Amino acid sequence: MKFKNYALGEWVAGSDEGQTLFNAINGEVIGTASSSGLDFGDMFTYARDNGYHLRNMTFHERGRMLKALALYLNSKKEDFYKTSWATGATRVDSWIDIEGGIGNLFAYSSLRRQFPNETFYVDGDLVGLSKTGSFIGHHIAVPKEGVAVHINAFNFPVWGMLEKIAVNLLAGVPAIVKPATITSYLTEHVVREIAASGILPKGSLQLICGSARGILDHVESQDVVTFTGSASTGRMLKSHPRLIDHSVPFNMEADSLNACILGQDAVPGTEEFDLFIKEIRKEMTVKAGQKCTAIRRIMVPENLMEDVQIAIGQALSKTTIGDPQIEGVRMGALAGKEQVAEVSSKVSELLKSSQLVYGSLDQFEVVGGDKTKGAYLSPLLLRNDAPFENMASHNVEAFGPVSTIMPYKELSDAVALAKLGLGSLVCSFVSNDRKAVRDFTIGAASHHGRIHILNRESGKESTGHGSPMPMLVHGGPGRAGGGEEMGGKRGVAHYMQRTAIQGSPSMITAITNQYQYGAKQVESEPHVFRKHFEDLVVGDTVTTHKHSVTETDITNFANVSGDNFYAHMDATSLEGTIFEQRVAHGYFVLSKAAGLFVDPKKGPVLLNYGIEEARFTKPVYPGMTIGVRLTVKEKVDQEKRSEDDIAKGIVKFLVDVYDETGDTVAIATILTMVKKRNQD
Ligand code: NAP
Repeated sequence: MKFKNYALGEWVAGSDEGQTLFNAINGEVIGTASSSGLDFGDMFTYARDNGYHLRNMTFHERGRMLKALALYLNSKKEDFYKTSWATGATRVDSWIDIEGGIGNLFAYSSLRRQFPNETFYVDGDLVGLSKTGSFIGHHIAVPKEGVAVHINAFNFPVWGMLEKIAVNLLAGVPAIVKPATITSYLTEHVVREIAASGILPKGSLQLICGSARGILDHVESQDVVTFTGSASTGRMLKSHPRLIDHSVPFNMEADSLNACILGQDAVPGTEEFDLFIKEIRKEMTVKAGQKCTAIRRIMVPENLMEDVQIAIGQALSKTTIGDPQIEGVRMGALAGKEQVAEVSSKVSELLKSSQLVYGSLDQFEVVGGDKTKGAYLSPLLLRNDAPFENMASHNVEAFGPVSTIMPYKELSDAVALAKLGLGSLVCSFVSNDRKAVRDFTIGAASHHGRIHILNRESGKESTGHGSPMPMLVHGGPGRAGGGEEMGGKRGVAHYMQRTAIQGSPSMITAITNQYQYGAKQVESEPHVFRKHFEDLVVGDTVTTHKHSVTETDITNFANVSGDNFYAHMDATSLEGTIFEQRVAHGYFVLSKAAGLFVDPKKGPVLLNYGIEEARFTKPVYPGMTIGVRLTVKEKVDQEKRSEDDIAKGIVKFLVDVYDETGDTVAIATILTMVKKRNQD
């Protein structure tokens, strides 16, 4: 079978035989992959020329597209599992890759709700730039007009692609994906289904199964390159002159020597000790240890070294290695024979300064499969008793089921050892001692992309050391590549240009479609509460009647609420406070504001479901007069959850309460749900 590339909307076979791809379980040939004859330049042009399809969609439309894609791929998942078997993966390994990848599409689809129903988003808060407020600043983020180029490692052929394209597609940017060649047949299978679904607009996704050497010769300033793989390849690609000449962002996720530390309190017999051993076993054997986040360094209080070594050995001895399709097999094969050779050579390097305390490079049993032709390796536990002197454990990565235990004396030594990895994706600390957890985390965070704390409280529900979560940043400093991906909204920002905008409040309102304080307000006729969602315009305002605040108001509000705070109730208690007389409750001012701005008759407004950014900015005393300007600040369209759901949207209103001098005394944003037309 000749696996094809997906370029310019067509399936294209390479013009030569290319690389032979093998089944990791039994060594059989499954096909070839080649990219010869592909014109990478044309692929970039095609993606750029068609990029407007995604750019012109709103975040909500892109998010719904991701959901449709996730549902579609979910319906095909059993077919993907069958293909995944050849990569050496167990059902659990494939679940992480396939369903974990689809889960990312779902997660980024849901993230649309954190964005406006626009093609761009407004970032952060308004910045005042002038004395009278006639000149302000803000930020917007618009989709880049280039291509996201994803160069991926061999270990997660599905997740590696989906966790990345979920983000660039939500941002409105097309992608070219280059999976590692040896497992590209699984990525190809998924892309075939994506293409067949017709869900993504033209030009959104292209695939290169064979080598992509030379691809970076075509990048331009609006493109973004992400790389996941070995640090050496990453560094080589990162120094490509074209990236420098065109200021192209390059996000690197490289190998890292992740650590797991057992706290001094977590002695045998505690829940933490058991959780620690379970986590180590899991991280060493899931995906046969071929995870960028896998635990490579295990740090243990020196008095617990023997206990830990024995317990890990016992846990690993339950790992049946072999063909994952056979019942009871817990660990499959590495991705290929080349990987076995690579890991074995790294283990030999490590053994120059460490001892092997569990497992063997050749003496182990394989159930089913073909031990000689398949890509098998036993879990290997090493021990380094002088971790401050023997540095190989901190810089040689054996990308397989290999980990090293090492002792530490004081917590500060554990922090120092964790940092000797010179930058990792993740570090776990297993302890029930809150002070130790805090000291370790604050001490070690500078060198880690993520710190995972495990104890009896989180043990049952923890997603584990090895799982990057879509809404949290994945990446790490230094050796781990210095990159950042996913992370919810943060990840989307990598594919967008953030632009500062400056002008008058009315101009900034016109650009952002969010009312900026000080912009022109248009008196609404009829009252805003009588208008349906579609008819409300940002800036529509109701200026209310006035109300003179009395002592009786304060006393009555204290009675209703039970809030008898001295500043409201006792005029003789105010010495040494900022108040000159009994002050009205802030909540009274807001409640009275509602009494002034609400139009009470039944109408399109369904409910008020919250208040944001409320501030009481000036004391209100008996005798003062307050009025309200209620202004449409922002509209957020909502999707119907079912056929019989009421069609509606969220309207945010700015409530500006001012006194007889015109000063604002309270300001808040209220959140309402407003019906669309023709719902009665
Ligand atoms: P690799 O050899 O560095 O290859 C990574 C990717 O780069 C592959 O797709 C490869 O394609 C491509 N590539 C190599 N040379 C290229 C060139 N000149 N131009 C364009 N593309 C090129 O890494 P790997 O063996 O696949 O993956 C294992 C390593 O990745 C481990 O060290 C592991 O720690 C690391 N990793 C890190 C993360 C993370 O998130 N930090 C995740 C997974 C893996 P070909 O296959 O065609 O050569």
